[in-house]
Amino acid sequence: MSDTVTAGLHDGSSEVVRAAEEMAARLPGPLSVFARIAYNYRWSWTSGGAELFSSIDPLRWERSGCNPVRLLLEASADALARTAANTDLVGKANTLWQEIQDDRGRVHTAGRASPQRPVAFLCAEFAVHQSLPIYAGGLGVLAGDILKEASDLGVPMVAVGLLYRQGYFLQRLDRSGYQHEYWIPLDPERVPAALVRNHEGRPLTVTVPLRGRQLTVQLWRVQVGSVPLFLLDADRPENSRTDRWITARLYESNRAIRLAQYALLGIGSMRVLAAMGLNPSVVHLNEGHAALAPLELARRDIAAGVDRHTAFTAARERTVFTTHTPVGAGNEGYDIAEIAEVLGDFPADIGMDFEAFLQLGRTRPDNPAEPFVMTPLGIKMSRAANGVSQRHGQVSRQMWQPLFPERPVDTVPIGHVTNGVHVPTWLAPEMRELLDRHLAPGWMSRQTDPATWAAVDDIPDEEVWRLRSLLRAELVEWVRDRSVANRLARSDSRELVAAAERGFSADALTIGFARRLATYKRLYLLTMEPQRVADLISSQEHPMQLILAGKAHPDDEDGKRSAQGLFGFKAIPHAGERVAFIDNYDLGIASRLVAGCDLWVNLPRPPLEASGTSGMKVVLNGGLNLSVLDGWWAEAFDGENGWAIPGDTVFDPGVQDTRDAAAFYDLLEHDVAPLFYDRAADGVPHGWVRRVKRSLRTNGPRFSAARMVHDYVDTVYTVRADSDSQAQGHA
Ligand SMILES: *Cc1c(COP(=O)(O)O)cnc(C)c1O
Repeated sequence: MSDTVTAGLHDGSSEVVRAAEEMAARLPGPLSVFARIAYNYRWSWTSGGAELFSSIDPLRWERSGCNPVRLLLEASADALARTAANTDLVGKANTLWQEIQDDRGRVHTAGRASPQRPVAFLCAEFAVHQSLPIYAGGLGVLAGDILKEASDLGVPMVAVGLLYRQGYFLQRLDRSGYQHEYWIPLDPERVPAALVRNHEGRPLTVTVPLRGRQLTVQLWRVQVGSVPLFLLDADRPENSRTDRWITARLYESNRAIRLAQYALLGIGSMRVLAAMGLNPSVVHLNEGHAALAPLELARRDIAAGVDRHTAFTAARERTVFTTHTPVGAGNEGYDIAEIAEVLGDFPADIGMDFEAFLQLGRTRPDNPAEPFVMTPLGIKMSRAANGVSQRHGQVSRQMWQPLFPERPVDTVPIGHVTNGVHVPTWLAPEMRELLDRHLAPGWMSRQTDPATWAAVDDIPDEEVWRLRSLLRAELVEWVRDRSVANRLARSDSRELVAAAERGFSADALTIGFARRLATYKRLYLLTMEPQRVADLISSQEHPMQLILAGKAHPDDEDGKRSAQGLFGFKAIPHAGERVAFIDNYDLGIASRLVAGCDLWVNLPRPPLEASGTSGMKVVLNGGLNLSVLDGWWAEAFDGENGWAIPGDTVFDPGVQDTRDAAAFYDLLEHDVAPLFYDRAADGVPHGWVRRVKRSLRTNGPRFSAARMVHDYVDTVYTVRADSDSQAQGHA
């Protein structure tokens, strides 16, 4: 189970092995291999991996949240005995385990990173799998996809995040559509994580100076293929009750605690890596939360006698920074008192007086009114910075130009690496099977080559359509189940529950809109012209159904109200059978929606969508996108691989909303629905299928995590003589 990156260190690799062996010892002999597989998330993106576990007990598998550790702990003796006697299944498990073992040998040098000096990838959230709920949305999904792809490509990487004992919140909408939150504690012993121990066999801990005290943190290791994910955990007896809460909740509401989380991630990550003897060649700050990490690197050098200038230069040389949003909430500012309370003496430890330290977090250092923001700190303390799409690169150069007063916007050293999605994770099994049948053998390892996808054109239209209809039918069946349960839980009327029971059609044009309920995503455009919406929804000729999902941050009243606005649909005839809001959007729900929807809609206010990734997942499964030309779609849309709403920015947001909503309804009514329902004698909408093929062919190779990780390795993790062109990345 240990990997070549870190063999022989006290880095938790032997604890992961021990946890798996302890589990194996409780199971019938032939099932030991299931325990080993359970402790490496590699199974989750291997064909047949999930089926191994669900075959043990399909109901319990669902109930455990698809968590293999819980499943194996909770499955009945009968179910285990039955599985142990199933030689076919045990054989498959052994084959999968062999594959995981084979991965380990493939880690190689990539850019500056080597197995001895890996990339340290830091992020506040990681969405590796639905059974490890330490993520909120797109940022976490992207981080999880990067780890999986780094494993697939053999890029030497270790990741550090926080173990939130209560994760992000769970969501329940009430009858009015208002969001309520609740939290369920995560038991780290019941997920595939192992506590890292030191050479004495005691939990490895480090201390981090926070809020005038020394916070003690321990560390869990989760194996993501060949990449270890280390999670810091403040739930230690040495800490006060309040301090233990620091790692309770992702994006905690209390500002001081949130700031303490970020400080812990930045400083603590560097300390635990050092305590394990890991010395990263590159420290990748994935968003600003971890931006104190390079300062901790400098502090260490300064404590060893290095002068401040040299220490800062060296720290910057090792650090790269990715900014993920131009939206204010993602670039949060802290005032002097907040910084002083949480960070205490840390500035003094790096030889800075408090005012000089504050200047690091400001765009205009000499403006005392400006709060301390992590993004400017990250940009200043890194040798390369990038946004996450071509357009977001431009927006970021403009936004952060004041940091480089001597440079015109075009030469601001912020490049871009467009996001991508991990193909084996997001491809529905049936779609994977279709592509395996029609693309050249081994196509997955050549997924970034346009030639690989050219063969999509030769797949018979009937086959594509049959697959799309199957995926839609699976989604519809599940939406019925979920909507009945959600509506009963909301105490909706009997008619509305009955409508969910008999509603939703396996043949109707199925439209998905699922994302964080942040204001800039403009959910309200969906209901802006009630009469037109009513006409579209209740159309007999071109029936449409709409599946909605998404969470609003607990403090975001506007976001919550936007969900409530959607419940205005209830008043529209037929909406009960054709519109559903599914509670609790997560990775599991996302994978169903992106597989089954025909059309995926995204209506962000331009230019605020840094990238967006859910539409890329839809492409892989043969769905089509209708989106504002912002984020990734601005570089993906070619006129025939989906539909677009103009992405220019109108000065008056109200005018823009009216215009964009009308464009959206027009496209639905005049383009999307007629094409979907234009059937030939064989029942196949050939025009629609042509678009699907074009979407796969043009966007399949460009928006995969493989392309993205290659870009990071080639342009960001690499060594280049000219540091300016380095920082420019793709710009
Ligand atoms: C892919 C994904 C996202 C990102 O969605 P965008 O709105 O396209 O950025 C968010 N949440 C979940 C659960 C996802 O799977």
